Order: sequence, then structure tokens, then C-alpha cells
Amino acid sequence: MEKTVYHVGDIVRMKKPHPCGSSEWEILRVGMDFRLKCRGCGHLVMLPRPKFEKGVRQILATGGEAENLKD
Ligand SMILES: [Zn+2]
Repeated sequence: MEKTVYHVGDIVRMKKPHPCGSSEWEILRVGMDFRLKCRGCGHLVMLPRPKFEKGVRQILATGGEAENLKD
């Protein structure tokens, strides 16, 4: 069984595009809630982890493993 691990700085594609037309988001915070920034318009959202995990289609890039170590 593989469980996906998400990191701060990862770029993900969501199933549902943002109204601005972009479906790519940057992860700014991980935890019980995920904070995401739209790569199209810079809009910030908070999503509970289960909702986030259901909405992700694909991880496009893994970014900040170094940042993640600070926790
Ligand atoms: Zn947007």
C-alpha cells in the first residue's frame, strides 16, 4: 500500500479547475488542513486534508522537502 505524501512547495493539479481557468495549485501548508495557492490568479484557499486528497488528480512537481524538515 502506497500512501501519497505531500510537501510544502509541491505543485498539484486538481480535478476541478479554479474559476480563473487554472487547475494547478501550490501547497503552502500541510497538516490537518492544507493551504493552497492558485497558480493562475494567486487565490489562497484552505481545505481539510480529506477534501484535498479527494480533489487531487496529479502531483506535477515536488518542491520543498527541505522546508518540510523544519516541522
Ligand atoms: Zn485561480
